[in-house]
Amino acid sequence: MSIHTRTDVAECERHELEQTLERLGHPRFHARQIFQWVYRRGITDFARMTDLGRELRAELAEACITTTPLVAGQERSEDGTVKFLLRLADGKHIESVFIPDVPPAGADGSARPPRITFCISTQVGCAMKCAFCLTGKMGIDRSLTAGEIAGQVRVLARELGFLETRFNIVLMGMGEPLHNYDETMKALRVLADEHGLAMSPRRMTLSTVGVLPALERLATEPLMPNLAISLHATTEDQRDRLVPINRKYGLKELLDACRRFPLKRRERITFEYVLLQDGNDTPEGTRGLVKLLHGIKGKVNLLPLNEAAGIPFERPSDDRVNHFARILANHGLTVSVRKSRGRDIRAACGQLITESPRMAPGARLASLIPSP
Ligand code: SAH
Repeated sequence: MSIHTRTDVAECERHELEQTLERLGHPRFHARQIFQWVYRRGITDFARMTDLGRELRAELAEACITTTPLVAGQERSEDGTVKFLLRLADGKHIESVFIPDVPPAGADGSARPPRITFCISTQVGCAMKCAFCLTGKMGIDRSLTAGEIAGQVRVLARELGFLETRFNIVLMGMGEPLHNYDETMKALRVLADEHGLAMSPRRMTLSTVGVLPALERLATEPLMPNLAISLHATTEDQRDRLVPINRKYGLKELLDACRRFPLKRRERITFEYVLLQDGNDTPEGTRGLVKLLHGIKGKVNLLPLNEAAGIPFERPSDDRVNHFARILANHGLTVSVRKSRGRDIRAACGQLITESPRMAPGARLASLIPSP
């Protein structure tokens, strides 16, 4: 059978794999077993799927493939963050980041389990061109397939030994998830499959500049990740400059869509706000935010700018960041300040770029990573 007619298991939701099995004349339930091997055990070689009959395995090896991104490099930050350079089947590269977080001890002094987060890309590059983001400077090469999006999670979980551990994913790597809607949502459904990684949507966060038609669609999805909105500005003018898609889908419409967005009890939308020295970190900024977010179930996540060559803004001082946060909190908003993770290896927000891979090919640091 030619490679072109093979089914790529990595691109299948379980019901699609069931159809393939049926077409091959086998019972549908084998799809569950295959999902378990691929997603829970990180095994893609059909020959090793030992609970499938020998003949079926041989047949699957003929009829199917399971494409998996290759680890082309890893870099480990002094804070434990690991940035992966992944090579896709067509030779293009993306970056995905493992962010370990050890929460402070509980009130009784007891240690809390570390929180594990994978930051996942949805496109090679990004078309949004936000003024402060390095990925935007790359422009867009192409969107990722569902298999490439979910594949990043598979690869990181396998490489880091977390296949059996609960972890969170944030779609905050390269790309704009709502500019690649269908593949992104399909990837989330695959990751949520009860016979695969069985991730709860509560452990998934989709971050977007607010591509409005796609945001309206998201509002109707049965599988609903947490929503984070890259707000970054408090006036149309300012947002037009910082987040150019605002010229098409303005701030007012975006916030109206957020007001309508279906949220369950206790759920809130996160509003991300990058802090730029003498840009949007001013008293007008705080006043604007308080006013804009009035009546929305939201919380603010402040992102002090991660500076980079070619980004024409500066990061405000910690004092200024804390002052900004305090004022918002005094007005009754829930505020957090995002810790910059992995800045020394350029793995922090807005720093992912793969024009020229900087990591040594094949550099493997897995042995340095503490086992879970
Ligand atoms: N395209 C999506 C997800 C990618 S980035 C989005 O824009 O939401 C995740 C977050 O990092 C976004 O809020 C983005 O605006 C922010 N970001 C981009 N560049 C940054 C930088 N240099 N410093 C801090 N945050 C940045």
